[in-house]
Amino acid sequence: MPAKKKAIKKKATKKKVAKKATKKKVAKKKVAKKKVAKKKVAKKAAKKKVAKKATKKKATKKTTKKKVAKKVVKLNTDAELFDSILELIKITSTVIPDDVQKVILESLAREEKNTTAEYAMNIIKSNIEIAKRKIQPLCQDTGTIIFYVDVPKGYIQSDFVKICHKAVVKATKLGYLRQNSVDTLTGKNETMNIGPGHPSIHFHEHNKETIDIRLMLKGGGCENVGAQYAMPYNALEAGRDLKGVRKVILDAVQKAQGKGCGPGVLGVCIGGDRGSGYINSKEQLFRKLDDENKVSELRDLEKDIVETANKLGIGPMGFGGKTTLLGCKIGTLNRLPASYYVSVSYMCWAYRRQGVTLDKSLKIKKWLY
Ligand code: SF4
Repeated sequence: MPAKKKAIKKKATKKKVAKKATKKKVAKKKVAKKKVAKKKVAKKAAKKKVAKKATKKKATKKTTKKKVAKKVVKLNTDAELFDSILELIKITSTVIPDDVQKVILESLAREEKNTTAEYAMNIIKSNIEIAKRKIQPLCQDTGTIIFYVDVPKGYIQSDFVKICHKAVVKATKLGYLRQNSVDTLTGKNETMNIGPGHPSIHFHEHNKETIDIRLMLKGGGCENVGAQYAMPYNALEAGRDLKGVRKVILDAVQKAQGKGCGPGVLGVCIGGDRGSGYINSKEQLFRKLDDENKVSELRDLEKDIVETANKLGIGPMGFGGKTTLLGCKIGTLNRLPASYYVSVSYMCWAYRRQGVTLDKSLKIKKWLY
């Protein structure tokens, strides 16, 4: 090959090699660029991960803090609720409500001087004063413990029951309540007023934000003289009307004489079934003695029963006199066509019922009687 041709070939080969090298260089650069980009993305992702973790940690910390705070608030409100129920039990057991005391004093003033009736009413008056002054139960029988609790929507009732039981136990230890819960089969009275049906707690939901608690301590002697009549009650020729109802209520008063520690107050329910009738008759006893029935026939009947009973000469403790009843409260429930019950609950002079409204922290805000 001539030298010129050889040189041209060499040049071309050199160019080819140079081109290949450039291509390689470009490819290398591309790979390096990709690597850098990948690294950047990975770094960004790692940063995001760390930030996410930190946020999660913060949120967990916040939730834990909130949970702890909630627990502390709950512990505080539990303690407040306990104190409020204990105070309610103490006052119910030892202080007669104002409306009842007023009627007792009016009755005492009406009794003839120097009679056994006046003597009995004076003892009742002294009993009320001593119990209040010494913070001691009005009577040795502190009765069946009956709570009626109005709660806001969504309130957890089991929370209340737990605390309420604790307060009842404490009140029993402190002597505001007697051990009064007997195992019916064994006859043992060993618990601190806690057992099946004791205390009796009825819940109702209301549209308010507050909790209202009403408490009644209902003695056994007066509970024993409660009565229920299935109408018509032929023995008295008492039919299914208010005339018949009047007859059986006065019959219950006659039969209770000398028992149940009068003068008493009647809670009456006309209608319902045997169970609901008695429950409603007890609910009537949460009404104030000076309130007026909204139903005119019942209002007249309530007045008539008290006036008539007080002319029967039964008197306080059955000793004779002018004061047999301090009040009578009558309500109604619908009934089946086949039944017509009149249920009478009798409350003795030691009329222990009180109530409170609690504020948001579950402290006592207002007394209801
Ligand atoms: S009836 Fe009333 S006053 Fe009489 S013993 Fe019972 S609780 Fe006491």
